[in-house]
Amino acid sequence: MVSFCENCGSLLVPERNGSGKITLVCKICKKESKEKFRDSSYQISSKIKHTEKDLLTVIEEDFDIRPITKVGCPRCNNNEARYWEAEDRRKEEWETTTYYKCTKCGWVWSE
Ligand SMILES: [Zn+2]
Ligand SMILES: [Zn+2]
Repeated sequence: MVSFCENCGSLLVPERNGSGKITLVCKICKKESKEKFRDSSYQISSKIKHTEKDLLTVIEEDFDIRPITKVGCPRCNNNEARYWEAEDRRKEEWETTTYYKCTKCGWVWSE
């Protein structure tokens, strides 16, 4: 959305005012437009980043469906870790490696 100042015809830019609301203000004559700032992309972009980050944290902590086993973490001495197996190619041979991820500090190691 592009709006122009009704006073001088310059381009209006969104600005956050004292109460935290975003309004359209003319850079040239500092006249605040009565027009409501409808393009919420400024607000949304920061909001989305925040939400995505929160979501990732939640997924990692709560939706990790990998089973937990009793194993000592080499880093923090916690005795529980999630484990999974992955195939690794070593010396022309496929080997299955078991990986562990500490439930406390998140340290990942393999056997
Ligand atoms: Zn103006
Ligand atoms: Zn640990």
